[in-house]
Amino acid sequence: MRDQLNAGEWLVEEEGFDIGKANVFETLFTLGNGYLGTRGTLEEGFKGEVSGTYLNGVFDAHDSPVIDLVNAPDWLAFAVQVDGIRLDVQSCKVVDHNRALDMRQGALWRSTVFEDGHGRRTRIETLRFASLDDQHFCGLRVEITPENHDAPIIVESALDGRRFNLERMPAYVGKPEFHPEVKWEKWAKSKHLDEVTKDHSPEAIYLEMRTIDTGITIGYAASTVSSLAPRQRTVHQSYERIGEQLEFALGIGETVRLDKLVTIYKSRDSTNGRVSTRCLEALAAHRASGFDVAFELHRAAWLRKWADCDCVILGDAEANNAVRFNIYHLLIAANEGDPTVNVGAKSLSGEGYRGHIFWDTEIFMLPFFLYTQPATAKALMLYRYHTLKGARENALRNEFSGAQFPWESADTGLETTPKWTPDGVHRIWMGEEEIHVTADVAYGLLTYVAATGDMEFMLDFGAEILFETSRFWVERLEYVEMRDQYVLTRVMGPDEFHEHVDNNAFTNRMAQWHLVQAARVHAELARHHSRALIKIAGKIGLHPDEVERWREIADKILIPFDADRGLIEQFEGYFQLKEVPVTEWDQNGMPCYPQGYHHFNAGETTLLKQPDVIMLMYVLSDEFDAAVKKVNYDFYEPRTLHKSSLSPAIHSIMGIEVGDPGQALQYFHRTAFVDLTNNQGNTHEGIHIAAAAGAWQILVFGFGGFRVMHGKMTFRPWLPQQWQELRFRLKWHGNTVDAKIRHGEVSFQLQAPDGANETIVVFNEAVALAANKETFVRFPAMAVA
Ligand code: BGC
Ligand code: BGC
Repeated sequence: MRDQLNAGEWLVEEEGFDIGKANVFETLFTLGNGYLGTRGTLEEGFKGEVSGTYLNGVFDAHDSPVIDLVNAPDWLAFAVQVDGIRLDVQSCKVVDHNRALDMRQGALWRSTVFEDGHGRRTRIETLRFASLDDQHFCGLRVEITPENHDAPIIVESALDGRRFNLERMPAYVGKPEFHPEVKWEKWAKSKHLDEVTKDHSPEAIYLEMRTIDTGITIGYAASTVSSLAPRQRTVHQSYERIGEQLEFALGIGETVRLDKLVTIYKSRDSTNGRVSTRCLEALAAHRASGFDVAFELHRAAWLRKWADCDCVILGDAEANNAVRFNIYHLLIAANEGDPTVNVGAKSLSGEGYRGHIFWDTEIFMLPFFLYTQPATAKALMLYRYHTLKGARENALRNEFSGAQFPWESADTGLETTPKWTPDGVHRIWMGEEEIHVTADVAYGLLTYVAATGDMEFMLDFGAEILFETSRFWVERLEYVEMRDQYVLTRVMGPDEFHEHVDNNAFTNRMAQWHLVQAARVHAELARHHSRALIKIAGKIGLHPDEVERWREIADKILIPFDADRGLIEQFEGYFQLKEVPVTEWDQNGMPCYPQGYHHFNAGETTLLKQPDVIMLMYVLSDEFDAAVKKVNYDFYEPRTLHKSSLSPAIHSIMGIEVGDPGQALQYFHRTAFVDLTNNQGNTHEGIHIAAAAGAWQILVFGFGGFRVMHGKMTFRPWLPQQWQELRFRLKWHGNTVDAKIRHGEVSFQLQAPDGANETIVVFNEAVALAANKETFVRFPAMAVA
């Protein structure tokens, strides 16, 4: 099966089994298709594994303090016994073990040789995939070869609904004392599923479960087809589990091949009919066509995906491999076909952050989808429309009108941020205070419309969101008569070290921008789409006077600024905080906490967890001049500890923008390898999917120097010395633009119908691109400080 894999930069490999690294590989080797994600656990399991299949959008709050992305039934379960001895890493010796994730075709290959206590060696080779062609289908091929024995072999292929969400950290009553940075390794389980029914026929087994609180029915059907007729087949059932056992008598060196074909449906899908009928009918069709056909269709779907979103780095194979790894994970996380789901902070690859959705979507991930697969970007934005009702409810609960998006979002848009750290010691204020998320959502949808020109989206969904959320700002902002200004008190900016702050520049400036944009969109609709505007205004009872107020208020929002130094103050009072210099850096060259400081007391100092003012200058790039960007970058960068995986990417990009690219490549490495090298230490909880998108942003916005300025694609490329060439492809208003960046020269090609053209801006010069013709632009090299 190994010969079916691609080579080199398309692979991530595991050599030998190391129990200390197993949970990290489980995350790295996650397969998925946006509908579901399945961690890269071993089919037979082992004690200490962190296994999981997650169905996008299936949340449940039973038995847990905060709603969870449900650890759904396991479709992989597949174990081999030799003469009654189960082959797994704990009961046998692992003689040989190799796995490879083939990112080009979304497949995981494995080959393991087990030796039991009697010296009997058996090779197990597997290939698995979660189909990108049919999101309801997963396939597992297993080849079993006894290398030096002919002992009887029993195979068990099961569907297992006995699943728990594993909460890493126990909740204690009475607040015991622990070091604030203690990492909990104890697991407290929550149960979210109950059995509905099980069934079997000579061809198939079937399991149906239901989420306890949210009442979502989930059906799995499986067939296990073997190349040799089994001596016997029996079906074994226990509560929440059904499996079939097949017995084989193989000669030495003889191989049996088994194909496990699995179909998955849930009541939350848009397709009609009973879940069981859908599962069984789809399974019958897949049985008729077989594993190879399904795999071929799946591969073809992957090749189509990669055509638009691969990035190539010439001169650095390792970096190229890492970039593909990040893109692979982005591609398996989002579901173009379901506008009611999104991408959680750990994608569908683990239970970190309980599957919740953050600003990570709009600010980090959206650009990747927007400029490579706009239809997926649209689905991500429609999720915010789908959850607008919840956002209205959040506003109401906080006694505001309009709509307030939650810091952490799950299935309904209600605020789902936990209130306490799991040890019960620290109050988590993000749910109350990181209100910037509402403006970030507005930013996302305006960016979407700017890049696609999709006015229909604006008329049908976007404007309603923009207007409703503007109402929230109008009431959340307070007017201070003495200053004749509007303020936002008791908030938290992106830098989460500082809570309960007043007038965080990021939040205030984003709220201001939000109100100005909403008023602009309103005016544009009034001019060009008056009928649609009447409909929206009628639906939400919007009066033109309100819109006038948005402009008036926006004009008077306080933005803390030290005019003498040209510095934006992160929030009022920030400049008075204690200065504690960074004096130590870790092996990745990233700053360590100064002695005596940690997450919970860094707020007394000017140290930052992640960019805040720099973030603002990045997202509103159009609105700050080069000098202000430089002064602020120079001030804030040395104070930033990058304790969020989201942080280095923004510094890489902004460093290049302000003419200080010296650390850009180091920040790129820190971002692109965050999971491959587990450099945050928590990859076992899932992929840092916002950082994955950050890696793509560094290539395109950092090295490619791409920005949308005044509605145009603009580029100011810069390439690290070590690289020869960087290539990427961008979608823009229905067209495709290919970019190749070399030292001192960049070329663009517009892929569009003949006769089409597009004007872009490269280093401040307008460049006209004609369709299907490569256009070269030379540029001066920027010195590295
Ligand atoms: C994160 C917050 C999050 C909180 C609770 C913290 O580690 O930094 O953004 O809201 O966990 O999930
Ligand atoms: C970061 C947030 C982020 C969250 C989820 C936190 O550590 O500070 O900005 O949204 O993680 O990725």
